[in-house]
Amino acid sequence: MTFRLRRNSVFRYPMDPVPRTAVLAACFRQPRFRPNYPVRIFPDGWSEEVSAFAPAAIAARREQLWGIAATGQPPMLTHAVIALESRGDPLLSTEERVWLWRAFRVPVFEQVIEPDGELLAAECEVHDGLHIEIPGLSWNGYHVEMSPCGCGRKTPRLALGLPAERARSAAAYAR
Ligand SMILES: [Zn+2]
Repeated sequence: MTFRLRRNSVFRYPMDPVPRTAVLAACFRQPRFRPNYPVRIFPDGWSEEVSAFAPAAIAARREQLWGIAATGQPPMLTHAVIALESRGDPLLSTEERVWLWRAFRVPVFEQVIEPDGELLAAECEVHDGLHIEIPGLSWNGYHVEMSPCGCGRKTPRLALGLPAERARSAAAYAR
């Protein structure tokens, strides 16, 4: 019998080229052999150090993004905010997306990840749902969209843009 210790995954930015990105989550690992990869993991969340890193994009749990925005002096991002969710969480509601846009003034992306950082579903640059990256998982409680995406990929997607009330009831159903 072999036992394979699972390692944390490397964060995947939604598109290329990857800008300078601060990932505020301990579940990812820093790729060791890619010294020029502009993604840095900050396992302890937002800090002076992250601010000094001057990220063009931030990836974090939605509560952390709210917290950073609530400081009244959110960082001057130029590329993206990426909300990290767990499977079973409601996706960002339309209202939450508008709020993030107002706070950070950059496009909002969403990713569903496992506790070890493995990417399960990711929003692409078309912003028309989250592409399911791992086939065969159950997505009860989410609306799965089967039509081809504007980005050219034909994989099923979790539909976006539920108003807050429906997002909450979908999440309750998923439990
Ligand atoms: Zn797409």
